[in-house]
Amino acid sequence: MDKVRCAHCGSRFVPNPRIKNQRYCAKVECQRARKTSWQRQKLATDPDYQANKRDSQRAWQIRNPGYWKNWRSRHPEYVERNRILRRQRRGRYKSEVAKMDASAHKVRLILMT
Ligand SMILES: [Zn+2]
Repeated sequence: MDKVRCAHCGSRFVPNPRIKNQRYCAKVECQRARKTSWQRQKLATDPDYQANKRDSQRAWQIRNPGYWKNWRSRHPEYVERNRILRRQRRGRYKSEVAKMDASAHKVRLILMT
């Protein structure tokens, strides 16, 4: 049997003869990738699927009021991690601005001489 390259992980596998044009191997993450790609494709092309997803999300929100509003209070570790990352980004931004100021100053000096 000819081996095929998996569309997700790229490893070679022997396709199941019962499955026509098998593109993904049997690994859990590859099957998950296949499903995600199918859903994305379906959502982009099928208005009924789109409407159904929207309706079920709305129904779920009605059954679970305040879920997203209280999400951060239920995930303090996320809030803390985000705070640290935000602080780091801000620090990096500040030092880049300082660097830009320094180089702009240098350009000005070159132009003046
Ligand atoms: Zn794979």
